[in-house]
Amino acid sequence: TREALTHSQKMEAIGQLTGGIAHDFNNLLMAVMGSLELMRKRLPDDPKLHTFLENALQGARRGATLTQRMLAFARRQDLVQEAIDIPALVRGMTDLLQRSLGPTINIQTQFPLVMAPAFADFNQLEMALLNLAMNARDAMPKGGEVIISAREETITENNRLRLPPADYVCLSVQDAGTGMDAETLRRASEPFFTTKGAGKGTGLGLPMVHGLTEQCGGRFVLQSAVGKGTTAEVWLPVAKPKLPGVEKALQIMQTRTD
Ligand code: ADP
Repeated sequence: TREALTHSQKMEAIGQLTGGIAHDFNNLLMAVMGSLELMRKRLPDDPKLHTFLENALQGARRGATLTQRMLAFARRQDLVQEAIDIPALVRGMTDLLQRSLGPTINIQTQFPLVMAPAFADFNQLEMALLNLAMNARDAMPKGGEVIISAREETITENNRLRLPPADYVCLSVQDAGTGMDAETLRRASEPFFTTKGAGKGTGLGLPMVHGLTEQCGGRFVLQSAVGKGTTAEVWLPVAKPKLPGVEKALQIMQTRTD
């Protein structure tokens, strides 16, 4: 559609701009951090001076983390779409997720016993899930539960998601956090939109998730209520089996042994 095209063109331009700025900033910050490290070795034994230096270093490190996230966003490679076992992807990430979210967050997962693979880019889907989980954490400063679940759904004509009728997998990340008001919800997936304040948010998390989902032929949906929490849904097409003949034969064998 026309809207999707302008969105991806916008993303492309922003990606290039961000990449340029982030690259220069990254170099500057590396120089700052290097000089501060050198200074630390020669600093006289005054605790105040050491505290000032540590603060400066911490600020520079935070800046470097942000610019590196921007670089990662700008460097978005072409999609490598393949059949992805979503429950396996999530299980493979639970350690990383738990470490990233911290001890106050309890991660729950809910998957059906059997589920069709989704057609998407593995690495980028991992990134998307990490982004969604970190947003869920940020929405619950006192801690709480993040529920990661997946389900399969056959989508028919004239659906609310405006998706072509087909089979889809829905990966969802749910929190019981602050939620978003109507204006925030409307703007949440805009590049650089953030309510998290200087040095904390980049406003690049949800645009990444939105862009990936659309590129995979799916849909990104946010539902939110202030004070209640947020559910982020990543709808992805089900991967068509590569060898339909073999699949069919396996199915027939299955029904015979049943
Ligand atoms: P960032 O996290 O860097 O702010 P994002 O693009 O990931 O950038 O999110 C944009 C904004 O959307 C956030 O600043 C926040 O206001 C809102 N948001 C995203 N996820 C949630 C959530 N789970 N709960 C409440 N607000 C959220």
